[in-house]
Amino acid sequence: MPGLTHPEILQWLRQPDSAALEQLFARADATRRTHVGDAVHLRGLIEISNHCVRQCLYCGLRAARAIPRYRMSREEILQCARQAVLLGFGTVVLQAGEDFGLAPEWIAEVVRVIKSETPLAVTLSLGERLPDELRLWRQAGADRYLLRFETSDPELYARIHPLRGATPSDRIGQLRFMRQIGYEVGSGVMVGIPGQTCEMLACDIGLFGQLDLDMVGIGPFLAHPQTPLGDPATPSAAEDQVPSTELMVLKTVALTRIVCPQANLPATTALATINTTDGREHGLESGGNVFMPILTPAPYRQMYEIYPGKACVDENATQCNHCLRMRIGRLGRFVGSGPGSRISSSL
Ligand code: SAH
Repeated sequence: MPGLTHPEILQWLRQPDSAALEQLFARADATRRTHVGDAVHLRGLIEISNHCVRQCLYCGLRAARAIPRYRMSREEILQCARQAVLLGFGTVVLQAGEDFGLAPEWIAEVVRVIKSETPLAVTLSLGERLPDELRLWRQAGADRYLLRFETSDPELYARIHPLRGATPSDRIGQLRFMRQIGYEVGSGVMVGIPGQTCEMLACDIGLFGQLDLDMVGIGPFLAHPQTPLGDPATPSAAEDQVPSTELMVLKTVALTRIVCPQANLPATTALATINTTDGREHGLESGGNVFMPILTPAPYRQMYEIYPGKACVDENATQCNHCLRMRIGRLGRFVGSGPGSRISSSL
C-alpha cells in the first residue's frame, strides 16, 4: 500500500503507543531500503557566513542580535571543499544567513571553481534569493538548493518570519521556480515550533509529497533563549501543540520516507542535539539516509549558532568524519560514494 492519506498521517503523529509506532518505523525502514538502499551519503556543511538581514523569530542569527559576524574567504571555502574530497564526501553544502554582502557573482565564481577543481556536487542554502541570482548560480554549476519552508501554515509562517520591508516572502514559490530551472530541490521543517499543531505538521508532510522534493531536512525546534520564540515568557502550548521531542521528529522522518520514498532524508544535527547519544542512529533507522557533517573551520563554527548546544560543534571535520563512519558501520550500513543524487524511477 503506497503513500498515506492525510488522516493516516495525523493518526500516526498523535499515536502515543510505542508498540504501534514500531510498525511505522519498520515500514519506513523497509521503504528506505527498497528505494534508496543501505548507503548513507555524507554532505559536508560549510557555513560560509552568519550575516543575516532577516528577523526570523526562532533563529540565533537574526539581524537584531548583536553577535560577532563573519564571512569566509573564497580560499577558506575552497580549503573546506578540498577537505571534503579528502574525507570522501560527495557533496558540499554552502549555507549562510540571508547575506546580500555575498555578491551573486562572487558566489557564482566560488561554485565554478569547486565544480572545476573537484568532483563534488554543490548544494546552496542561502535563503530567499532573487530569480536572477538563482539562475546565475545554476548556470555556474550549482546542483542543488536547500530552502526549508518551515511550516505550510500561512499564518504561523507569517508570524515567525517578519517581512523585510515590502519584499514578499514566498518560499514555496521559490522551490517551484528552482525546480523549473533544473536544481535538485530540498526543503523541510522544524518540528515543535511554538504554535505548530499536529494538523499543520500533517499538512507539511503532505506538501513534501506534492512538491516531489529531492531532499527533506527535518529537525526539532530548539529554543534559543536570545530569540523571541526562545523567550520563556512567550506563551506556547497551542491546543494540539506538536512537542519538540526526538520521538516527534522520528515520526515525521518516518512518515516523510513513506510519502517521499526516493527522497534523501538527513538525520540532522538538530536531531543529534536533542539526543547526543544516538539521535543520529535513530534518524537513520526511521527512514534517514544522509548525514551532514560540519566542515566549517573553528572559530566560525561556534559563531554559526542558529540554536545553542549544537552537537559536534567542538569537533573538527576529521573527528566528525571518523565518528559518523563508525556510527554508520555499527548499523550495518555503508557510506555512499559519488554525489548521491536522488534516485528517481521517473527519470
Ligand atoms: N538562511 C538559510 C539557512 C538557515 S539555517 C535559510 O533561510 O534557508 C538552516 C535551518 O536551520 C533553517 O531552515 C531552520 O529550519 C533551522 N533552524 C533555525 N533556527 C533553529 C532553531 N532555533 N531550532 C532548530 N532549527 C533551527
